[in-house]
Parts: sequence; C-alpha cells; structure tokens
Amino acid sequence: MLTFAYHRATSIDDALGAAARGARYYAGGTNMLDLMKTGVETPSALVDIGDLDLGSVQALPSGGVLIGAGVTNSDAANHPLVRAAYPVLSQAILSGATTQIRNMATVGGNLMQRTRCPYFMDPAFTACNKRSPGSGCAAVAGFNREHAVFGAGTTCVAVHPSDMAVALAAVDALVHVAGPSGPRSIPIGGFFTLPGEHPERDNSLAPGELITGIELPPSPFGARSWYLKVRDRHSYAFALVSVAVGLDIRDGVTRSAAVVLGGVAATPWRVGAAEAELVGRTADADAFRSAARVAVSGAEPLSQNGFKVVLARNSVERALTRAAARG
Ligand code: SF4
Repeated sequence: MLTFAYHRATSIDDALGAAARGARYYAGGTNMLDLMKTGVETPSALVDIGDLDLGSVQALPSGGVLIGAGVTNSDAANHPLVRAAYPVLSQAILSGATTQIRNMATVGGNLMQRTRCPYFMDPAFTACNKRSPGSGCAAVAGFNREHAVFGAGTTCVAVHPSDMAVALAAVDALVHVAGPSGPRSIPIGGFFTLPGEHPERDNSLAPGELITGIELPPSPFGARSWYLKVRDRHSYAFALVSVAVGLDIRDGVTRSAAVVLGGVAATPWRVGAAEAELVGRTADADAFRSAARVAVSGAEPLSQNGFKVVLARNSVERALTRAAARG
C-alpha cells in the first residue's frame, strides 16, 4: 500500500513551502487519486490546497474575468460571467467528464491532468517515456488510434485530454501562477509543451509553481463561438477530435478568428493559418471549407489514426458554421 504524508495548506506560502519540501499539490483529486491507485503517481507527500482563497470568479476592470484555480469545473462553466462572454468555454467544460467529476475537479487541476494514453495509465507497460523517461514509447508501433496527428515526433505521441484548455486557447487566456521566484502569468499558448526531448513534462511550470487563477481577456467573439467535441461515446469519453472556434464578424466579413483543435496533439493545437484564411473574407460556407482544409494541412497521422485528419477537417467546418449562425 502507498503511504504518504498529508498537509492541508493554510496559505499560498504554506503550500509553496510544502511543495519545496517535495509535496505534490492536491485539489479536487479526480485525476491524482486515480493515478495513485494505479501506481502511476507515487507521491511521498500531498499538500491539499482546498482551503486557499482561490475559489471565486470575478469581473476585472479590464473587462475580462478572473477564475480562481480552485473554482470547480461546474461552477466555472455555469457562472453568469462565463456563460455571457465566453460561451465557448462553458460549452467546452460541460462537454468534459461527468457531472459528479465536474463538481469535484477544479480549473487548475483541469490544466494539470495527465494524458489518458493507455500505456501511460497502466504501469504494467514498461515502455512509456512520459512515465519512465528513456524507456521508449509503446504507442508508436502499438495502439495509437487515439493519439496525436500534430507535433508528436517519436518520443511521445500522446494527446492532452483537457477540453477546457482548447477553449482557453481560443480566447487567449493567461495562466496565473505563484512560485518560489514570485508570481507570473503564462499565456495559454505557451503553457503546454510538446514532447520533444522531455516527454515526461506536460507544461512549462517551474518546479513548485502553483496555478492560482486563469484570466480571460475581453473576447471579440462573444456568442459567435463554438466548441465541438467528437468522441466514441457521447455520454462520457475523451475527445477523438475537438474544435474551439471564435469569429468576429462585422458587415458579413470576418475581422478576426480563432481556430483551435483538441485531441490531436500534446497541446491545444491553434491553427493560425486557418485563422488567416478566414480574416478579411466573407464569412460563408466557402471560407469555412477553405479554413477547414488549411487547418489539417501538415498533419502526420500514425498507423491507426488517419481518420482523425478527416474528422478534424469536417469538425472545423461544422464548428465555424455553427459559430457564425449563433451570432
Ligand atoms: Fe507513454 Fe507518450 Fe508513448 Fe503514451 S504516447 S506510451 S504516454 S510515451
């Protein structure tokens, strides 16, 4: 049986101090506990951050919104400020997990959840560079239907499982963190990392850094946004492919756009070329079809997941169509 020390932090400094002594952060526990039960995670100490003052959603003077890292997924998705100005985020969060899990899981934890690659999740498989750096990657020549088609390389072909992160990328969110070197903000586009030489890392957090909040800048898209998730079972499954899009349309012309794919890479996969294809053009079916084609150019499917490229292309076209109609 795994034994570990447990400490309930009374302040952010207290939490940072515990982390500096080797403890791992613990919030909703919906991913960490599962991984501890299977032996993927074996922390010697946990520091519970549930009592910290990180549980509110606030309007910012800038016009944006700050979501505390301890806000549950359910409360974030259903908050009036989020629903009104960032419906794509609300949609994305509500498409993830189950009601019970969303009621426990926090938005900070959502960003920190680990991949659901089956080889990572089961220590009986020895070849997993993410779990054991240098051991290889069983998925490259094995079961890779659910894996990456962008940005993977050969060290790890896993995808990030968060729906919320894909929508955050579409609205250019900032991740606020506290750490041994003080507070800082990380643009969501630089928060997650591709595997490269360090497949064991999922993000750009420095050791001991703690997510304290997620800032949503004022969005030009508002209602004209959409999150589309395609999965094997609608009731409860991670995305095979997902798409978050936003459109700023004036006088029938797209002034700015966001197109972000999920379920296809180790990071939310923002497709600037597809956005450029939309901007300055009449917002119509032709433009959406062109953007969708561009969105999947350069894809590098594995032996079992070529279908994701077609699925992603069709999903981008459909999401753009729905976003435009929503306005
Ligand atoms: Fe491990 Fe990544 Fe390979 Fe999955 S894809 S087996 S997580 S190294």
